[in-house]
Amino acid sequence: MKFHILTIFPKIFDSYISESIIKRAQEKGLIKIQAHNIRDYATDKHNKVDDKVYGGGPGMVMKVEPIYKAVSSIKYQVLSMGKRGKKPKVRTILFSTRGKKFDNTIAKRLSKYDQLILICGRYEGVDERVAKYVADEEISIGDYVLSGGELPALVLLDAVSRQIQGVLGKMESLEEIKGSYEVYTRPEEFKAVVGRKSKIWRVPKVLVSGHHKKIDQERGKA
Ligand code: SAH
Repeated sequence: MKFHILTIFPKIFDSYISESIIKRAQEKGLIKIQAHNIRDYATDKHNKVDDKVYGGGPGMVMKVEPIYKAVSSIKYQVLSMGKRGKKPKVRTILFSTRGKKFDNTIAKRLSKYDQLILICGRYEGVDERVAKYVADEEISIGDYVLSGGELPALVLLDAVSRQIQGVLGKMESLEEIKGSYEVYTRPEEFKAVVGRKSKIWRVPKVLVSGHHKKIDQERGKA
């Protein structure tokens, strides 16, 4: 699986993708990540990627042309590299506050693609023609407005990668949201100072009891 991230701030991704599970997934060759600077696909001499809103309104809008060029060039490379007879499955996603709400079901569905092209908006958003003609779908990561699509891209990249076989090692487990339960680790009793009083915060007794049946029941409740 290869993630192509289209952004005007490619450096944002450097630190997150070079740590932990995502780092190991790349080292194992299970995923590849490439951040493409949309500015490199601008055609005018000032590398302009945004412009004023038609009809008036505050702020700037990301232009369709550089994004269209970037997506076309990535798709061309992907399709010409594909082995004969096997066309890679590509999906182009635009992050938008008006998109489908992202969840684990969508993450699972997207993990079946060979290549994902993720378009990160900025400013007042992206010329609607990108949603209409360039992207296959629009995704929102929640009902709040962020400054750009870069955090949504990292959220999607992380959740989708976890669904790819081999990405999670023995140490981590692929949890379904419904099957997840509260967890504790040592110490069994932790002494904390709350206000002026000292308190003991304990691990629930059943979890240290060794009664596996009871533990399962306890976890089923959560
Ligand atoms: N005025 C716009 C907000 C633009 S925010 C509106 O009301 O929709 C700038 C960019 O950040 C968006 O184009 C989108 O790519 C990204 N973004 C912001 N919040 C997001 C969210 N909750 N989910 C996905 N993308 C988001």
